[in-house]
Amino acid sequence: MSALRVVVVGASGRMGRMLVRAVTESRGATLLGATERPGSEFIGRDAGELAGVETLAVRLVDHVSDCPEADVLIDFTAPSATLKHAEFVAERGMAMVIGTTGFDAGQLQQLRDTLSGSAVVMAANYSVGVNLALSLIERAARVLGDDYDAEIFEAHHKHKVDAPSGTALAMGKSLAAGRGVVLEDVAVLSREGITGARKAGAIGFSVVRGGNIVGEHKAMFIADEERIEINHIASDRMVFARGAVRAAGWLSNQPCGWYDMHDVLGLNS
Ligand code: NAD
Repeated sequence: MSALRVVVVGASGRMGRMLVRAVTESRGATLLGATERPGSEFIGRDAGELAGVETLAVRLVDHVSDCPEADVLIDFTAPSATLKHAEFVAERGMAMVIGTTGFDAGQLQQLRDTLSGSAVVMAANYSVGVNLALSLIERAARVLGDDYDAEIFEAHHKHKVDAPSGTALAMGKSLAAGRGVVLEDVAVLSREGITGARKAGAIGFSVVRGGNIVGEHKAMFIADEERIEINHIASDRMVFARGAVRAAGWLSNQPCGWYDMHDVLGLNS
C-alpha cells in the first residue's frame, strides 16, 4: 500500500511543528509539502529541522498551491487561513483534517459549503484519550442516572485565560446527553458563599490553574457508598498531532462527508 501523502499548513506553529513530527513518526504517511503565512521568517526553512526531527528536504512555502500534489491537508492555523486552504482542497479534490478552532457561525457555514464535496475530519480536540473519555462519560451517565452526583474537575497551566476549559464543557455535554438533559439547564459553573445544598441533577465544575499543567480532566459520579471517576491527563501536545495524523489515515478510505473524532475512532457505532 502506498504511503499517505500529506501537506501540513502553518508548519512553524506550535501544532504545525508537532504535526510534522507526527507525520514523520507515522509509518503510513509521508510529508510532501509544508507552508507558512506569506512574510513568515520561516519560509524556505526545512520542515523537519524546524520540527526537531531529521532534514526532510521539504521547505516551507508561502502558498499552498506551490506544494506537490497530495492526498490530505492538515490544518491547525487560524479561521481565515483555514477558509482559504479549504478552497484549495476543494479545487484539488484532496481530503482535509481541520484542527483550527475559533470559527464564528458564518465562517463555519462557509467552510461547510466550500467543502461540501470533500472528505473532512474536524474536531475541537484530536486527543484519542479525550474522545474515548467523552464516550465513556456518556455511557456512565446513561447507566448511573442522577442517583449519582456528577462533578467535573479540570486543571491547566497558569497562562490559560478561559475557564472551564472547552474539554471540561465537552465532558459536561456528554454527561448531560447520557442523562437526556441539556447541560445549560443543570450546569453549576462555580460555587461561592452560602450556596445552599447541592441540587439533585446538577453537574458541577471546579477549576485549578498553576505551573505548566498541560491539561487534566476528571468526571466524577458520586454516591454515598461509591465513586466512579473517569480521568484524563495530557502531558504533551503531541497527543493532538498524533490523533490528527490518525484521522488523516482513516479519512483516506472514506467517501466525501463531514466527520469527527468519534467517527475516526468508531465511537458512534
Ligand atoms: P500557533 O499560532 O502557534 O500556530 C499557527 C500557525 O499558523 C502560525 O505559525 C501562523 O503563522 C500559521 N498561519 C497563519 N496563517 C497562515 C496561512 N495563511 N498559511 C499558512 N500558515 C498560516 O497556534 P497553535 O497553538 O499551533 O494553534 C493553531 C490552531 O490549532 C488554533 O486554532 C488552536 O486553537 C488549534 N488547536 C487545536 C487542537 C485540537 O485538538 N483541535 C489542539 C491544539 C491547538
